[in-house]
Amino acid sequence: MDIQNAINIAKKTRLNACADKYFVGACLVTPDGKHYSGCNIENDGIQSICAERTAFVKALSEGERNFSYIVVVGGFKDTPILERCLPCGYCRQFMSQYVDTNFKVYACFGENDTVEEYSISDLLPHSFSL
Ligand code: ZN
Repeated sequence: MDIQNAINIAKKTRLNACADKYFVGACLVTPDGKHYSGCNIENDGIQSICAERTAFVKALSEGERNFSYIVVVGGFKDTPILERCLPCGYCRQFMSQYVDTNFKVYACFGENDTVEEYSISDLLPHSFSL
């Protein structure tokens, strides 16, 4: 799956967010081209789930253990995606346990789908691991 296709899926999935203000979509892609989408699912009473972890949990629960990259798009509801949306600290730590050093995080934003590429170590140097 090419990145533009994953961007389109992330944008579409973003619209499913269960949130009041900020809508995030993610598309997690495996080496064999499968993808798992996710959106943020917010909740008044307990910890909300970010789009990135939603995608990972879906994939992991289906038995996937190899991941190539994830695309993340986010912005305020009913507005264009103008700024980059990078994974939060919780998601960075979560993802770091399930990916290798080749894994990429792509933040997509702007009218022309500007894409920025990050490695997990860019986003989370010196991560915790057992
Ligand atoms: Zn997060």
